[in-house]
Parts: sequence; structure tokens; C-alpha cells
Amino acid sequence: MTDSDNVPSGVPDERRQAWGENYRPRYSGVATFMRQPLCEKETAWSEIDIGLIGVPFDGGVTNRPGARHGPRQLREQSTLMGMVNHQSGVRPYDLAKVADLGDVPIEGVYQLDNAIADIESHYDRVMAAAVMPISAGGDHSITLPILKALARKHGCPLGLVHFDAHCDTGPELFGHKHHHGGPFRVAVEEKALDPQRTIQIGIRGPAEPLWGFSYESGMTVVHIEELYAMGISGVIKKAREVAGGGPVYVSFDVDGLDPVFAPGTGTPEVGGFNTYEAQQMLRGLAGLDIVAGDVVEVSPPFDPMGTTALNGAQMMFEILCLIAQNLDRKRG
Ligand code: MN
Ligand code: MN
Repeated sequence: MTDSDNVPSGVPDERRQAWGENYRPRYSGVATFMRQPLCEKETAWSEIDIGLIGVPFDGGVTNRPGARHGPRQLREQSTLMGMVNHQSGVRPYDLAKVADLGDVPIEGVYQLDNAIADIESHYDRVMAAAVMPISAGGDHSITLPILKALARKHGCPLGLVHFDAHCDTGPELFGHKHHHGGPFRVAVEEKALDPQRTIQIGIRGPAEPLWGFSYESGMTVVHIEELYAMGISGVIKKAREVAGGGPVYVSFDVDGLDPVFAPGTGTPEVGGFNTYEAQQMLRGLAGLDIVAGDVVEVSPPFDPMGTTALNGAQMMFEILCLIAQNLDRKRG
């Protein structure tokens, strides 16, 4: 019996066709990212264009933990996402084969270096199958191994559009470089990230003295007050100028949002952008060669209402639309 056999009679054909296998109540069934089919078998990945991947790891947090629970809660809240982006008109599932590839198996949960290596080798396999990944963290330390695998595949350091309250280019902390306040420094040092093609948007707060590497390496830093001075269209223009001209990664740390919209995160900073502004900035990136992205730092233990995960899932959907659109554009 197939799913379509379960569709009740009397359902208008166009509705049935538009939803396909998802023609069932949103609250039913096993929660996968965006209600897409679960495809954990690596041998089947070659049939997938865009893979939604959970990275349940928060061994790199500097303060409040819990982001290891992010993928599950993002899956749950992502069942609220629909089939179409009303503003851009993009229907990602018409443009690309999308699946939930499950979670990265992390053996080294008690060893930071081993965990980072586990993530990197997993994304090497994702890259070998030519899947474009959208990852759900996890804390921001997970982005480094993902960027390294991507840079290896693409044969060059990537450009980056990075939404965050923090630049995450800090030095070693307590004798260790793999923490969530430093992935983009290490990514530059290890030639996975092109600092000249990196823009960091929404930066604020008392960690500013740690971000010298961003300025020294040539990254473009847009503090929150500069964002409001430039306006959303100004930020979009700047991001396109800086990150364009090669493959681009979009990294969305939910603490870039004001804590009103994302209280459930490890290191909240008051005075951030709102969800509508985030959507407008993301939608404004259409046309760039966006090859992958992530949403990180959703910490369900600090998110009792699920607000942060809902907003994070929406940003995953926005990134999905961008990547599907890019794939469609490249196919001609
Ligand atoms: Mn971050
Ligand atoms: Mn942050």
C-alpha cells in the first residue's frame, strides 16, 4: 500500500498532487525535517539533491549547553513549514529532491577533537554523494568541519554569509581551539573559508575584544547598529558584493536574532534583529551560488515554548529555498 492509497476520496486532485506523500495531517507521522522522507542509507544519497542533516553536538559551548537537542526540536517545529515561499514563489520540492539524511553519528562525544573529526568525515561522505547539505546544530563549532569538507569538494575556500551576535573568530579558550566562539578563525587558518568573501551580520555585545581576527583577516563585520543604519536593502547589497563570485555558505546562529525571538540559545545577546528582518536578508541572497548552510545554537532546554526552534526551522526553510533556487538556476 502506498501513501497515496491513504488519501481519502473526495480530495481535490490539485491539492492531492501538490502535497503528494505529505497529504496527511501535519501533526501525524514521525517528525522529519520539513516532513521530508528519511534517507539514512548512504547508498541512497546519490539520488538526493539537498540533504537536511542533524548534528546533535554541543561539546563546544562556552556557557549554557543544550544545543545537542536542537535537531530533534527543529524537526518537530519544521513540520509547521509549508511547500512554498510566498514572497519568492519558490517551491523547493518542485525544484530539488530533498530528504532528511538523519543525524551525524558522533562517536567522540567525550573528546572534542574526535567529535569534530567525526563530523568532518561524515560530510566528506555527503560531499562524495554530491548532496547539498543544510545542517541543524548543534553549537557553532560544528560549522568548521562542515566547511572543511565543502572546501575540499569545491576545491577552494568558501564565501560566507554569517548571521550571529558573535563573530566566532576568537582565540583558543582554556587551551582549546574547537569551541563555538572560534570556528571561523580556524576555518580561515585551515583554508576552508575566504575571509575576503566573508560577511558577519548582527554583531554586538561584550565579546567584541575577541574579534580582532575578523578585522585583521579582512572579513566584513556589520554590527547591529550598522545594520539599522544601512537598512535591510543596504545589508543585502553589501552581502552580495562581499560573498559573491564563488560558492557561498550561509550560517545562521539563532542568537543573531533578538532574544525575544530566540531565547532558547546558549549565549543570548539583547538588541538583535527580528525574524522578519532575518527573512528579508536571507531572501535577498537569491542569485548567489549558495551551496550549503546551517542553523545552529537552538537549545531546547532554554526554549520551553518552542519559539526559538520554530524560528530556526523557518530560517532552515529560507535557506532551503535559496539552495533549491540555485540548483534550478545552474541546471538552466
Ligand atoms: Mn555563533
Ligand atoms: Mn552567537
